[in-house]
Amino acid sequence: MHKENQPLIFEVSTPGRVGYSLPEFDVPEVDIAGLLPQGYIREEEAELPEVSELDIMRHYTALSRRNHGLDSGFYPLGSCTMKYNPKINEAVARFNGFAHLHPLQDESSVQGALELIYDLQEHLTEITGMDAVTLQPAAGAHGEWTGLMLIRAYHEANGDSGRTKVIVPDSAHGTNPASSVVAGFEAVTVKSNEKGLVDLEDLRKVVGPDTAALMLTNPNTLGLFEESILEITEIIHDAGGKVYYDGANLNAVLSKARPGDMGFDVVHLNLHKTFTGPHGGGGPGSGPVGVKADLIPFLPKPVVAKSGDQYVLDYDRPQSIGRVKPYYGNFGINVRAYTYIRSLGPDGLKAVTEYAVLNANYMMRRLEPYFDLPFTKHCKHEFVLSGKRQKKLGVRTLDMAKRLLDFGYHPPTIYFPLNVEECIMIEPTETESKETLDGFIETMIQIAKEAEQNPEIVQEAPHSTVIGRLDETKAARTPVLRYQK
Ligand SMILES: *Cc1c(COP(=O)(O)O)cnc(C)c1O
Repeated sequence: MHKENQPLIFEVSTPGRVGYSLPEFDVPEVDIAGLLPQGYIREEEAELPEVSELDIMRHYTALSRRNHGLDSGFYPLGSCTMKYNPKINEAVARFNGFAHLHPLQDESSVQGALELIYDLQEHLTEITGMDAVTLQPAAGAHGEWTGLMLIRAYHEANGDSGRTKVIVPDSAHGTNPASSVVAGFEAVTVKSNEKGLVDLEDLRKVVGPDTAALMLTNPNTLGLFEESILEITEIIHDAGGKVYYDGANLNAVLSKARPGDMGFDVVHLNLHKTFTGPHGGGGPGSGPVGVKADLIPFLPKPVVAKSGDQYVLDYDRPQSIGRVKPYYGNFGINVRAYTYIRSLGPDGLKAVTEYAVLNANYMMRRLEPYFDLPFTKHCKHEFVLSGKRQKKLGVRTLDMAKRLLDFGYHPPTIYFPLNVEECIMIEPTETESKETLDGFIETMIQIAKEAEQNPEIVQEAPHSTVIGRLDETKAARTPVLRYQK
């Protein structure tokens, strides 16, 4: 088999080798040719790798050891909140009564699960300052789209069909303009000012009778709190628009400030970020959407509601935008978020925010002498550096990100947000110890020094990983995702 420092060979197969054993056939054999449509029947044997159980075990274990996960090391991915996923969440999600439910069971036999959904809705309503929450959407972007469809339905119900535009700041997460377009709107950019905040003058220029909504995240993706938030939401409301809060990362405001109190009408949360659902690798996630009272009639159905002491699925919602997800969302992720909220309690959630913000500011101030800091105000849960100084020495932000791999760190988010040159966006989160923060800071300082004294070592990084620099365009455009016989 492979050595630790060599690329894995995927095309491993020895004819006749098997990794399974099945019991003897004990039911009558059926001729599937008569059961399936002709086009679905294979004419030749599938070409699958033939390997032993031990081979396959080592193959996947080797792959997992080459992966970087939160349980293997620091992962300061800005705007993505890679915080520790407490293992008690996993234990609760595996309770028989949750893990073995069937989504088509009758309401009366799943009262516990419905109670959990209802209770979680209530907690999230309280946390966001909204009037109701749906747990159906399966991800942040899905929540954005759902929220925008609610806003569309609201305007339509008012006979207000000329509202075709959604305003999005230039620092926004890429999903914001994308969701606007998928929901049938045109995305319009509003500029940031020199402080990194929404430029109010520009906002007044772009807002108008065609404004359906403004999408905003606060603190924004630069980690800065919009000081004029009340004025911003008022400008949009005065124009008849709705204000959408991208709450994917709530680490800076959890239990401290609420989107509902800032004038927002719709919010989505990423339970797989702020509320410790595991994430990465594409799923499953949970992107609940909270709304103010005037948008409640449009929420996806069925709505999990309470009638007396029974929990019910309410389908009688004539103005609902309909279902956005089969069943009631990704229930397992919702169980994990519920466990997290209940195990921390209000004081615990407040401490999350305090430590997340403290850690980010500590790191920002210690790195400030070595990198350009485009916005010098105290940050919230994340901050951005610029690699402009290093770029003049021939070392790009990408090089520094690759160099971090040599020290066992997952690089921060880079080249985002787009309005900062050579951007490095760091979110340490509250769950990391001071030792971990210091270790990362020292490494970043070392890399800054290398950029001055020995730039090649950074430019040619990584040196210690199995594969060096990838052709990332080729990897994205022509990925090889299947076994090639
Ligand atoms: C992660 C993120 C999203 C998208 O969430 P997904 O679950 O990946 O779809 C949207 N907005 C912001 C600010 C984010 O950080």
